[in-house]
Amino acid sequence: MSVFAEQIDVPMLTRYQADLHIHTVLSPCASLDMGPANIVRAARRLGTGIIAIADHHSVANVPAVAEYAGEGPPLVIPGIEVQTKEEVHLLCLFPDLNTADDFAALIRDKLPPVRNRPDLFGEQVVVNGAEEILYFEEILLAGSVEMTVEAVAREVIKREGLLIPSHVDRPAYSLLANLGFLPPGLTVHALEISRPQHIDKLLTEHPNLKDIVFITSSDAHFLSQMDTKYVTVFYLAGLTFGEIKLAFGGKAGRRVLIEARDTK
Ligand SMILES: [Zn+2]
Ligand SMILES: [Zn+2]
Repeated sequence: MSVFAEQIDVPMLTRYQADLHIHTVLSPCASLDMGPANIVRAARRLGTGIIAIADHHSVANVPAVAEYAGEGPPLVIPGIEVQTKEEVHLLCLFPDLNTADDFAALIRDKLPPVRNRPDLFGEQVVVNGAEEILYFEEILLAGSVEMTVEAVAREVIKREGLLIPSHVDRPAYSLLANLGFLPPGLTVHALEISRPQHIDKLLTEHPNLKDIVFITSSDAHFLSQMDTKYVTVFYLAGLTFGEIKLAFGGKAGRRVLIEARDTK
């Protein structure tokens, strides 16, 4: 046996900074500076190699961001932020746009048929890669869908997606605030925390979460919010969704953790 044998299966891993929760101009609560070009340029300036677009209940602006990013980086992951019946926000990320579209169609059926009032809630703008307005989404994307946390989780897992309850340390619209605990048997790939500097406090209150993977994201609704102090970091053998999934599972040396942002 060669003395090098044990090195054969160890891949070269590269560090990628990630922001897996970004809203665009499609979210009624997001600023009009959250267009595809601004988001991709900001990611490049900040050294963010992986971004996920996670508007409320729609993936309609993902193609424009992906088109602007081209071959990347950043890698653009299609996502949706769902608000369940329990008013819990769940970050749902998918391997490709077709799968995300299929999930979005299901979610749309479960949204209350309320029309947006741009004067009250803000415009919901769908754009192309050149940032030309294609149309205004008329159904209000804010609000809860008629699905439980468990039902949404089932649909995400069925589609090989990633389920990450959003901003669990916030006092509202979060799994831990609204339900009080992580339901036993619920498959989550990670939990998102808004203020990672307070993770010890969270783990003191919820000691059963000590073996769960935590990520942090900007949840940016304004461009300046993308520049966070802490960032999720992946160590991957390639820039693909499959590699990201391996990292959440801690497989073959891949890993995901929270670090201070490297602005170089
Ligand atoms: Zn949210
Ligand atoms: Zn959000």
